[in-house]
Amino acid sequence: MARYTGNKCKLCRREGMKLFLKGQRCFTDKCSLSRRDYPPGVHAQKRTKVTDYGVHLREKQKLKRIYGVLERQFRLYFEEAERMRGNTGENLLTLLERRLDNVVLASGFALSRNHARQLINHGHFTVNGRRVDVSSFVVRPGDTIEPGKKEKTRKMVADAVEVNRSQPVPSWLDVSRDALAAKVVGLPKRDDVPHPIQEQLIIELCSK
Ligand code: SF4
Repeated sequence: MARYTGNKCKLCRREGMKLFLKGQRCFTDKCSLSRRDYPPGVHAQKRTKVTDYGVHLREKQKLKRIYGVLERQFRLYFEEAERMRGNTGENLLTLLERRLDNVVLASGFALSRNHARQLINHGHFTVNGRRVDVSSFVVRPGDTIEPGKKEKTRKMVADAVEVNRSQPVPSWLDVSRDALAAKVVGLPKRDDVPHPIQEQLIIELCSK
């Protein structure tokens, strides 16, 4: 699937909030948002009135940018969420949480979402012992996610774990940072989604 390759900090400035797209840098005073707390673009500061559609659209863009998915893939997630039982908004968020790149990041095995994707795409991770090189792979309860056996791979992941050691782990994952393994022990719930997203606005927009 295609991915956004432009300036990531501009996305945060556009949304007016930290989307944490650059790993540890986002927690330092090098964060662009702390220095330029206004949208990017020559005329952006002149824009004042936000329409109702604009509010809905921004919420959708925020969610897509946090998880690094583009419109076409996002539509597929939305359709899948609609087909599932229960609340469509919650289904959408939890489907995105179950992406393999998100699991690798949440387990502390990568420094940023892009780093997680790169490791996965280069074949450094396995699910239940089988190599999976698709970042959008959706994990299920009972799955075990581990880096491959190569020394170089394990060192890269161990280094990331060391940096992320203080990062909390979601309750639906059982992560052994010493053994470098994460087990999916349940499905994520709405409260497990750490991002301030108003999913109802997204559903209203996408259902029109
Ligand atoms: Fe966003 Fe991180 Fe850039 Fe700050 S450093 S603007 S949080 S991507």
